[in-house]
Amino acid sequence: MPHQRPDRSRPRLWEQHCCLPLLPSAAVGDLTRYRLGSYLSVNVGFSLHSSRDSLELLDLFRRDALSDGRFRLVGSIDDAWPAETLVPEDAVAPGDSTAVDPDELIALAFDLEDSGPLDGDLDNVELFYSLGVRSLLPSYNHANAAGCGCLDTEDTGLTAYGRDLVRTLNEVGMFADGSHCSRRTGLDISATTTAPMIYSHSNFAALWEHPRNITDEQARACAETGGVIGINGVGIFLGRNAPAAHADRVEAMADHIAYGAELVGIEHIGIGSDYSFDDFNEEIAENPEAFSDAYTRWGPIQWTPPEDLLGESTVPGLDEVLAKRGFSEADRAAIFGENFARVAREVWRD
Ligand SMILES: [Zn+2]
Repeated sequence: MPHQRPDRSRPRLWEQHCCLPLLPSAAVGDLTRYRLGSYLSVNVGFSLHSSRDSLELLDLFRRDALSDGRFRLVGSIDDAWPAETLVPEDAVAPGDSTAVDPDELIALAFDLEDSGPLDGDLDNVELFYSLGVRSLLPSYNHANAAGCGCLDTEDTGLTAYGRDLVRTLNEVGMFADGSHCSRRTGLDISATTTAPMIYSHSNFAALWEHPRNITDEQARACAETGGVIGINGVGIFLGRNAPAAHADRVEAMADHIAYGAELVGIEHIGIGSDYSFDDFNEEIAENPEAFSDAYTRWGPIQWTPPEDLLGESTVPGLDEVLAKRGFSEADRAAIFGENFARVAREVWRD
């Protein structure tokens, strides 16, 4: 019987990093501001959290997602990025854009921003993996037992423990992530990993010099592992932090995508918007030791919410902006999700 692919008028999204409030009051249902059918990786802890803190958050988020009914918890790559359902051609009117899988849900996985939540025990990587954590970055902004962070003035890269951590991530099948790490730590991850590494949410320093942005050398080293760099929509990392600059931020994301595609190839570029459903500016005010004036000097941090990213607000969405710049439908599908999905297929252990 002839079949046709569901007519998705816009590409499916693999959002490699966004943030709920790291509190029991977090509303997991808010994540449905992303379209059903998306894959989302949601943070469950950073440098200020212990294993117990992150395990409690995971338990809460997983229970809330299941009771909400619009989520599927990610175990395998098929949960994260299922093959599109083929619909019999005679069941669908030509051009019918509603022909998508009626059982579409949001695929929900988790990530850790810092190795602190391991409590120094590498066996916890396996435990977190079993609960849906699929990505971990060793050092959030500042040095820890694993290595240096991007706000450190002295950069000695990964420690011996940090290299053991990367090898453990490889064995368990979790993404080794270089975002928030120092430049040398990022390069050391590339040199140590035997699987593709990622930068889950990092832009290019060549376009906007900021310690959270990565150098061309880091980007090339990541691509050489076969990995992907997720471009974020954070005002201070794009150099577009004016509160009203919603359209500028989407355009600037496209600038970073175009730059990365030219530098390392389009197959190594994805999206990790870093959108915060929390008031992250309060988090910074309450925990100044985890940040620096590189986070506060432009005023309250502005974001690219799902509605701006997806073209559901008053500004043109990223897909439309990229199409106008000449990116083909296949290019946009790769950037929006296929690239991260390909790397997950290689790295994750089902
Ligand atoms: Zn982050």
